[in-house]
Amino acid sequence: MSSNPDIIIVGAGLSGLMTAWRCLDVNPKLTIQIIEQSDRIAGDHTWSFNLTDIGEPLRGWLAPFIAYQWENYDVKFPKRERTLGIPYCTGNSATLRTCVQPHIDSGRLDIVLNASVDAVSATKVVTSDGQELSAKCVLDARGFTPSENTFLGYQKFVGHMIKTAKPHGLKRPIIMDATVEQLGGYRFVYCLPYSDTEILVEDTYYTDGPELRSQVVDARIKDYIRDNLGVMDYEVIRREKGVLPITLAVDEAYGIDVSAAHSAPVKLGMVGGYYHAVTGYSLPEALKSACVVSDMIEQNWPDFAEKLQHEMAYHRVDHYHEEKFLRLLNRMLFKAAIPDKRYAVLQRFYGLSEGIVERFYRNRLTKKDKLRILIGKPPVPVYKALYNFSEKAFIKREKQKRK
Ligand SMILES: Cc1cc2nc3c(=O)[nH]c(=O)nc-3n(C[C@H](O)[C@H](O)[C@H](O)COP(=O)(O)OP(=O)(O)OC[C@H]3O[C@@H](n4cnc5c(N)ncnc54)[C@H](O)[C@@H]3O)c2cc1C
Repeated sequence: MSSNPDIIIVGAGLSGLMTAWRCLDVNPKLTIQIIEQSDRIAGDHTWSFNLTDIGEPLRGWLAPFIAYQWENYDVKFPKRERTLGIPYCTGNSATLRTCVQPHIDSGRLDIVLNASVDAVSATKVVTSDGQELSAKCVLDARGFTPSENTFLGYQKFVGHMIKTAKPHGLKRPIIMDATVEQLGGYRFVYCLPYSDTEILVEDTYYTDGPELRSQVVDARIKDYIRDNLGVMDYEVIRREKGVLPITLAVDEAYGIDVSAAHSAPVKLGMVGGYYHAVTGYSLPEALKSACVVSDMIEQNWPDFAEKLQHEMAYHRVDHYHEEKFLRLLNRMLFKAAIPDKRYAVLQRFYGLSEGIVERFYRNRLTKKDKLRILIGKPPVPVYKALYNFSEKAFIKREKQKRK
């Protein structure tokens, strides 16, 4: 392993690589070492997002990451079908690797593969074979880790990428098809037509527990492809499954704690809680954190570590506050709505203006937007909604249950 990089990042997944890419692009003298436990960087993933989740000035920079883009998409519910003119994008492991490759070639990004990190502090890491490495600053990007201070529901899904024998005819993504049978939670099917003969079909469930019976779901995807997409002749060329955290509540003392800003590593991505509370998607947040880190390096070069740690500690606090309303919506969805009727919450939401939908996914809802979402005939029992309104009271009850 090479020594004396300015920064060490633990984990070569989405947030680790996005941060390295952004920081190295913006800061010409910076060097970074990434330590990854697996045998390749970026894994084998796709990451989708609304283009409007990304701030306008960053869209050009992010363009090389985007492998597919559609100009609009559909949502379908028992009593609502709609096409939204919000561009939808997907990047993947291959495009992410391409984005960082010039920095690997230049020698400013050093990748260490097959090395698991056991211990991390603000400036040091210790690998499982006992090597100690240090840098001005260590960034922890090891992926989702549960915390006793965070109370979760789950979004879980199985996806089949299929290659059809004839053109399938699906012109744009279906982000939510909730006309399917609702089975013990909010269920919808998600379809991305990557080409005339390729579609990713994902069967998704918002449920209380993380268990996923993928064989049963495989059979349901098969039925959907035949009955809803009308495709008979195809082969499955790739399978994926995922269980994503959906945050119902975060203990405030934990959410606003900055006491370890200079002793603990700076966290990036899912391990830092940087994902959209309602969808579990983390790409826009990964990019936001990457920009904060990069800006602090640029503004404070070469002694950036302290300012970076300080700013990222408060970035985390901001994220805690910004997601408060989304956590409330999750408690309505998971705790107030009757499981098989959870779809009604989303059906009502997708009747609102496109601007509100955009701002919801970008987590930039205004006070007026929040009122528009909450007022009107509630699709959940009122007494249950009121019972789950207070985050503090919810946490108190959940902690009692754990005892
Ligand atoms: C199947 C699936 C589909 C998803 N789709 C989307 C999507 O479409 N859009 C979206 O925005 N989000 C999506 N997400 C959610 C989220 O964005 C991804 O999980 C994203 O990859 C998280 O980024 P991350 O950097 O936090 O973690 P990861 O990308 O998981 O990266 C963590 C990295 O750290 C490494 N690592 C872990 N422990 C150690 C260790 N001890 N030492 C060294 N290395 C270590 C891992 O091997 C991994 O490479 C999806 C998640 C899943 C599971």
